[in-house]
Amino acid sequence: MSTNTVANVVRASVARLPQSDTATLDVQVLLATVLNVGRSFFYTWPDKLLDEDALAKFEQLLLRRINGEPIAYIVGEQEFWSLPLKVAPSTLIPRPETELLVETILDKLQLESAKGIDLGTGTGAIALALASEQPNWQILGVDFNHDAVELASKNKQSLSIDNVEFVQSSWLSNVDPKWLNQCDFIVSNPPYIDKKDPHLSQGDVRFEPSSALVADKEGLQDIIDIAQQSLNYLKPDSLLLLEHGFEQGEAVRSILTSFGYQHAATLKDLAGLDRITFASSPK
Ligand code: GLN
Repeated sequence: MSTNTVANVVRASVARLPQSDTATLDVQVLLATVLNVGRSFFYTWPDKLLDEDALAKFEQLLLRRINGEPIAYIVGEQEFWSLPLKVAPSTLIPRPETELLVETILDKLQLESAKGIDLGTGTGAIALALASEQPNWQILGVDFNHDAVELASKNKQSLSIDNVEFVQSSWLSNVDPKWLNQCDFIVSNPPYIDKKDPHLSQGDVRFEPSSALVADKEGLQDIIDIAQQSLNYLKPDSLLLLEHGFEQGEAVRSILTSFGYQHAATLKDLAGLDRITFASSPK
């Protein structure tokens, strides 16, 4: 009979997660959470015996993962732009490809002071990343979901980032008029998946709020609304940046152009897929 050593428990648990292509990592992250250790523990202490209490707690977490729940929801945290963010089922789990939005803004706007809005901020990921990089910028994070606004505010507090505020609003409809024509940029990772997309019934997205994923008009309706509303909040010749699906680059460029934005361009993510489009508001 095998004993409950760390190595044996990891091996047996990985075998119970055949549907995950990151099974070893999943198991190590869950066990590390229960034991409150870093992942180097697994290489340093493979023969350590686990006690009943730790095993029982780990089993609870493992069962949730076997059921398909994303690791980030189980452990309640996800890193974005090297910031540890609390996550909850009320928000999308921040994705590494979304860091391209942050990178592009920092690259294009070499301004000492600037104002900008993050629409559909969720955990606050984009807003907090920008605010942490540019302490003199003033950032507003907006979400229509009240729980997301609360979560983003908690993330702001625990990261001690001061130059960002979060408010509840459906896109720009409820944003204070003091922001009208004041923004150097508006950024969003909006819902952009078509409701018939088969990916919605696979993997992590099954557990994420569909309001953060799915949009009408083949996924483009929210992008249209954001492009239109942003005209009133951007200064002339200022940046609108949007994340979108890998097949939506051309459609998004033509939406932006139809509203009078100029120089629309699409960038690829690290996987080589069209991922963000940005353009300048009319002069
Ligand atoms: N990129 C995410 C996915 O395909 C979706 C994020 C979004 O809709 N904003 O899983």
